[in-house]
Amino acid sequence: MNGGCDVAIIGGGMTGAALAAALAGGPLRVMVVEAEAFDSPRQVSFDRRTVALTYSSRRIFSAMGAWRRIAQTACPIHRIEVSQRGWPGAAHLHCRDAGTDALGYVAAHRDVGEALRQIITTAGNITVLCPARAQSLSAAADAVTVGGDGALQTLSASLVVIADGGRSSLLDAAGLRRTVKHYRESALVTMVAADRGHRNCAHERFTADGPLALLPAGEAQFAVAWTLPHARAEQHAALDDAGFITVLQETFGHRAGRFHSPKPRHVYPLTLATCTPPARARVALAGNAAHTVHPVAGQGFNLALRDVADLCSVIARAHAAGEDIGGARAMAGYAAARRRDTFAVTTFTDGLVTAFANPAPPAAAARALVLGALNFLPPVRRALLRKTMGLRPGQLWLREFAAGRV
Ligand SMILES: Cc1cc2nc3c(=O)[nH]c(=O)nc-3n(C[C@H](O)[C@H](O)[C@H](O)COP(=O)(O)OP(=O)(O)OC[C@H]3O[C@@H](n4cnc5c(N)ncnc54)[C@H](O)[C@@H]3O)c2cc1C
Repeated sequence: MNGGCDVAIIGGGMTGAALAAALAGGPLRVMVVEAEAFDSPRQVSFDRRTVALTYSSRRIFSAMGAWRRIAQTACPIHRIEVSQRGWPGAAHLHCRDAGTDALGYVAAHRDVGEALRQIITTAGNITVLCPARAQSLSAAADAVTVGGDGALQTLSASLVVIADGGRSSLLDAAGLRRTVKHYRESALVTMVAADRGHRNCAHERFTADGPLALLPAGEAQFAVAWTLPHARAEQHAALDDAGFITVLQETFGHRAGRFHSPKPRHVYPLTLATCTPPARARVALAGNAAHTVHPVAGQGFNLALRDVADLCSVIARAHAAGEDIGGARAMAGYAAARRRDTFAVTTFTDGLVTAFANPAPPAAAARALVLGALNFLPPVRRALLRKTMGLRPGQLWLREFAAGRV
């Protein structure tokens, strides 16, 4: 028996670690159950991939004390260019439009993990059980019991947060249901250098196969996330370096200079999955366990961080009012808080992919017109940025989160 706690977090990857860091130093006893050690090659949540963080995610990381460290290696995005292969009419978005000093940041998963790990391992109220895989879960009226292997025998908690990723094995036991759509595409991910540097500009280029994103990273590199039909993604990943640079350059063109020195390539099959509602008494979902979205526009983890912020806010309020933090009332509050944001991001990302998938010339011409017109419509650009940056009017939840740490 590992004992009892207030909040048990299953999965200490990007989302679970962020939640633990947000609860660090507070009055609640927290246990994190993580299957893979931070340094294990099987720990894919903290691999060498990069993640585009929105300005709103910077604020959330700042509130939990992680941003200073993440900022040391994160690369700011000042501009975004959205274009369509074979058509003129690129849209240019600038941080001036949003009134912020950056539209977002590109950070390595590993660096984010290291910043979170420092907070978690020095917090007196957090116990990490690792390696330990949660295998069973049963919720009773006033507590939930979790069993597993490795460092986890049995623990009980007032609230269990399932943050074990997009292939969560605990949803049935938790009595929660997810719907899944498998895209016909995979994302090919790598890094390339560019002879002109990146000038803090991110590129989203829609091609007949799918969107190709280039994100500024490091001194003169781009992180590449290229959506392709499954077989083509595998073929491109298997090319030698010279062959890969040739197809990438041919597809993207020369607007960002000449590419060279590609890093190893990895392929991720893509799905759209949602779980509605993402909570019930004693159990809450966060991150990919609650929703897995297409990587176009880099929204998945940013959405997960807003799960974390809203969940902390709900827990803080219930705790301050002397209420049950895992009770049906608090969990209904969390589900309600996440409904609109999750719906907006899943429909926006799926809709974007669908809208750019139609290869018919009239559809492509209409898209080119819209992209070109965006340059002359500052209010529309601002609204678009507000949506993709995760900024919400008021940001009341954030003030609560930062000031009312539980
Ligand atoms: C190609 C690609 C590009 C992306 N780019 C972006 C981007 O630019 N911006 C963005 O915001 N998002 C992006 N995303 C999404 C982002 O990567 C995910 O949202 C994020 O990694 C999800 O983290 P997570 O912790 O919820 O899940 P995971 O990363 O899957 O972590 C789950 C954790 O749970 C552990 N675990 C699993 N089962 C158990 C168990 N039974 N017991 C204990 N532990 C367990 C695992 O070991 C792991 O540590 C991208 C995704 C892809 C595929």
